Amino acid sequence: MGKEFDITPQTVPHVETRYRRIVTQVPHPESLATLERLRQFEPLSMRGQPPIVWERAEDIFVFDKHGNRWLDWSSGVVVTNAGHGAPEVKRAIIDQVNSGLIHNYVFPSEERAALAECLAGVAPDGLKKIFLLTTGSEAVECAIKLSRAHGIHGGGKKKIGIVGFERGFHGRTMGSQQAGGMAGQKSWIVNEDPAILNAPFPDGYWQTDTSFDTFLNAIKQRGFKPGNIAGVVMETYQGVGPDFAPVEYVRQLAEWCKHHNIVLTFDEVQAGFARTGKFWGFEHYGVTPDLICCGKGISSSLPLSAVIGRAEIMDQFPPGSMTSTHTGNPVCCAAALASVKKIVTENLAAKAARLEPVLLEGLKKIQRQHPEVVGHVTVRGLVGGMQIVKDGRKEPNADLAHDIVERCFQKGLLMFAPVGAWGQTVKIAPPLTIPRDALEEGLAVLAEAVLDPGFGKKPADHLTLVDGTTGLPANDKMSHSIL
Ligand code: PMP
Repeated sequence: MGKEFDITPQTVPHVETRYRRIVTQVPHPESLATLERLRQFEPLSMRGQPPIVWERAEDIFVFDKHGNRWLDWSSGVVVTNAGHGAPEVKRAIIDQVNSGLIHNYVFPSEERAALAECLAGVAPDGLKKIFLLTTGSEAVECAIKLSRAHGIHGGGKKKIGIVGFERGFHGRTMGSQQAGGMAGQKSWIVNEDPAILNAPFPDGYWQTDTSFDTFLNAIKQRGFKPGNIAGVVMETYQGVGPDFAPVEYVRQLAEWCKHHNIVLTFDEVQAGFARTGKFWGFEHYGVTPDLICCGKGISSSLPLSAVIGRAEIMDQFPPGSMTSTHTGNPVCCAAALASVKKIVTENLAAKAARLEPVLLEGLKKIQRQHPEVVGHVTVRGLVGGMQIVKDGRKEPNADLAHDIVERCFQKGLLMFAPVGAWGQTVKIAPPLTIPRDALEEGLAVLAEAVLDPGFGKKPADHLTLVDGTTGLPANDKMSHSIL
């Protein structure tokens, strides 16, 4: 259950700094016509976005038509790792369009070959087959299908279990949503596949027992044995945090998967392409999965996703039976090639790693100043999050998180709407090209927004159902999540 932002134009103080410029009401009155058209013609589910109508975006900036400029901390939901409209990416798209080839689907292209080779080059040893798709959800669906087929091949029709994690997010299609762990989002499925189950995610804050036993117990409780499990699908970090699992936990998980011939997939749709200070997020764990799902930052722009994996898993389906109409669209491939090249040659992973302490210390400072509001902060590379809580208790405060994001965009700092299982996470994900002083300026704005004494006074209207044992909102209310 997300929340709409008020679209009434607000008179806000003018801002004019190196990185931000707010010189009109927000949203601008002339943008209301667009916002209202969207409300009229799009489904309700598309509301809940900050009401800033983008005219253009460049590197770390988002501009509207009316002279306002935001410092972007969204990367368009963790997409533009190489910066918005990176010149190299733009040039590659334009050149590809001008070359005369913008679609070819079931026929080979040089662009598809070049991108597949490039991705194999950045993938770990042993994972050298690349299947290009369009969305992250599709990549996860494909990984589930490959895992199950592999399970059936090795262990018969009883080896079909897929384990995801509570509060995990892998997309909104049937398989990806079931593998995810937002109970409230799955009610439409009704006949959930009994062989898709969730284990607790050992984030260390909401789930304090971080031992691997929690995983083993969860599958046992659901009546599964390792011999019935075909695959485990894990976000390398859970987007709702960002939350990493303990290294030891993941090493045990990888060992367990290997021992029982279970396909281990890391969903790197958010974590990949240098976001966390390493090229792949799973490098933090020192383990290699069997399959990697990619999306978002792969192209820093146009829609493209990929499954990267071991040949014996990827080659299970015969010619013509694992394809998709927009597989390897040449324009998207050109964009992705340029984006990956930029991320690698400019070593944006190292840059994100260098800025990690700045972001972490900035968020910790805000937490120290306001522990009753900021319950927990996590940062890895250039992705961070603050868990907004009520009165210093471990109780999510979605309303306040929403207010903080709103106050920030009124001040020229743009974040997407809060995420998290209960809508309590203020999430930070700037383009990896952000300079240090821009990051610091953003932190100062965020601190102002969090510390504003007028905040926290609005009643929480949709988080009343609390689970008696955990004190958290009941599991079936987990419905808010990443866009
Ligand atoms: N996996 C993860 C980790 C994601 O964050 C998302 C989207 N936020 C998806 C999968 C689904 O990607 P898409 O929206 O492109 O289908």
